[in-house]
Amino acid sequence: MITGNLRPSRVLVDETAILHNLQHAIGQLDAGTKLFAVIKADAYGHGLLRVARVAAAAGAGGYCVAILDEAVALRQADFTLPILVLGIIEPETAAVAAANTIAVPVGSVAWLEAALPVLQADPDLPKLRVHLALDTGMGRIGFRRLEEMNAAIAFIQAHADQFEIAGLFTHFATADEKDTTYFNEQVAKFHQYLAALPNKPEYVHVSNSATSLWHAACNGNMIRYGVAMYGLNPSGHAIPETPYPLEPALSLVSKLAFVKQIHAGDGVSYGVTYRAAGDEWIGTVPMGYADGWLRRLQGFHVLVDGQACEIVGRVCMDQFMIRLPKEYAPGTEVVLVGQSGNQKITLQDVADFSDTIHYEVACSLAERLPRVSV
Ligand code: PLP
Repeated sequence: MITGNLRPSRVLVDETAILHNLQHAIGQLDAGTKLFAVIKADAYGHGLLRVARVAAAAGAGGYCVAILDEAVALRQADFTLPILVLGIIEPETAAVAAANTIAVPVGSVAWLEAALPVLQADPDLPKLRVHLALDTGMGRIGFRRLEEMNAAIAFIQAHADQFEIAGLFTHFATADEKDTTYFNEQVAKFHQYLAALPNKPEYVHVSNSATSLWHAACNGNMIRYGVAMYGLNPSGHAIPETPYPLEPALSLVSKLAFVKQIHAGDGVSYGVTYRAAGDEWIGTVPMGYADGWLRRLQGFHVLVDGQACEIVGRVCMDQFMIRLPKEYAPGTEVVLVGQSGNQKITLQDVADFSDTIHYEVACSLAERLPRVSV
């Protein structure tokens, strides 16, 4: 993907906001508990390496990423903090993880059996650090029965030159919801596994942002802190109160590329789903669904000069049109997410309009948009 540095559409990343959010979270942790900054998916659209630097400066104890390539990119950029990949990696790539001191989750003996010959092929490799993943109710990855976990532990102990247990974890499906029934069932299951462990590994972790914000009683000595680091409430609207304020870090801005007046009955964009009611000023914004500004945002609004301007006609791949209250010069700033005058549009507003969650809106912002620190 070519990044559009010569185009005025940009993602602005407020590093100080991320730093503050992390410092708040770290300040709430019990002594000895480490925050691993979740910076998968290009740090939720904010920029992997930039956020990795901020997290290290804030005192993070490590990083979580989703895929091995993200972890390797961190190592190649000389980040030395511990890294945990959250998704199951291909057993064939286990040597890459071991060679780069990257920890990976394990949720089956079959995976260990497949990774073993790969690791044995190079006797100089460091041991592969694994975190035992427990599926206590998320239904995604991990051991679902105690016997399976015990069989994996036995396998690892029998191949101690290749594997080392570094952690035990689970992931909650409903930590961001008010009703805690399912959450508590998962907690109870996790404690059953924990109690059955012969030795506690270095890291025991259950908390994502929502768990760390609203479920203080969870045991563990590491948290996997993601969305709240970017200043976003993990529950959307479900639980509005957070124990400390979250500062949103991401803005999305562009500039008017073209401005014209149209007249009653004139159509705008593919399918002519919009026609002017009278004389109207229409501005064209150089961003579209190829940038992650979704096609279903027709009818939503952006901010120009502190005023909400409706998105009229279909959002195209690279451009969309807005109705301006008056003539504005090309080059005038357009705020898609962020503050303009005393008006504000949040990622949550965009998510609400497009019937999704802010995580998806942030992650959809394409690599074509340059990320600029402010
Ligand atoms: N832990 C795991 C296993 C995850 O999959 C995720 C994100 O999806 C996180 C932690 C971070 O979650 P959040 O961004 O809600 O803090």
